[in-house]
Amino acid sequence: MSGPVTTEDVPLDAGCGEPEAPEVELLPSRDATVGGMAVRRALPRRQRRTVGAWCFADHFGPVGPSAAMRVGPHPHIGLHTVTWLVDGQVVHHDSLGSEQVIRPGQLNLMTAGHGVSHAEESPGDHAGDLHGVQLWVAQPEATRHGPPAFEHHAELPRISLGAAAATVLVGEVGGERSPARADSPLVGAELAGRRGRSVVPLEAGFEHAVIVLEGEVTVGGTSIAPGALAYLGEGRESLTIDAAGAMRALLLGGEPFTEDIVMGWNFVARSRDEIARAATDWNAGHERFGTVASGLARIPAPDLPG
Ligand code: MN
Repeated sequence: MSGPVTTEDVPLDAGCGEPEAPEVELLPSRDATVGGMAVRRALPRRQRRTVGAWCFADHFGPVGPSAAMRVGPHPHIGLHTVTWLVDGQVVHHDSLGSEQVIRPGQLNLMTAGHGVSHAEESPGDHAGDLHGVQLWVAQPEATRHGPPAFEHHAELPRISLGAAAATVLVGEVGGERSPARADSPLVGAELAGRRGRSVVPLEAGFEHAVIVLEGEVTVGGTSIAPGALAYLGEGRESLTIDAAGAMRALLLGGEPFTEDIVMGWNFVARSRDEIARAATDWNAGHERFGTVASGLARIPAPDLPG
């Protein structure tokens, strides 16, 4: 059967006003490889560069112990890295001298500012599965030229929202505030639960998105599974999530980031020149990036024309 459209496509009484905005915009993630591990890259996508100041989201695993993470020393500028694990362990070493094992339920947040470098690898004695996310938050102009920093949060606030509980990684959910640093109005939370409905209070001035890590959820009639970014737009005061079974998802949101960012390799800046300078500095061993105590080989920057 083919056209014309029927009342199943367009109801006769749809009216002639503003088209109703779709409740959920599903953007498929891109398959990529980082340090030998397959990742689903939910951000940035051509159709959507940022959600609030969140500008990068890689979902890795679950993978077995044979697929260890080995990411050698590499630099960052102008962003925070946010690491969150569902399963496994990762050791973080950085140029500030930090050495930190991160486990599920804990948060690592590194601020790059004008320059930092770090390495991440599976601990040698750990033979388990690995599953988690690596996120970046673009720093605003006010802090992006500042000093680097590192935070580890072993305990984070949790709040029950019906069938699911939220762990607040960054910002605030339902009055529970994370101790993690945020340089712009931002929220990041993990929602984990069982079959049933959860209602998540949202900041209406933020835009939001959901990345499902395990299971499948439904938002406004749209089914969301791992391997996609579900963009929810702005102006929502709450998010209703239905799950037919166990689920785990990441809620990301924030005030729409209005600064025009340029991303290149591991850098977030405002111009191609800044990116090219950072790459040149890293390859020349410039002191802005320090040194990392890691047995892994340093990762050279590719050619990044200014
Ligand atoms: Mn990194």
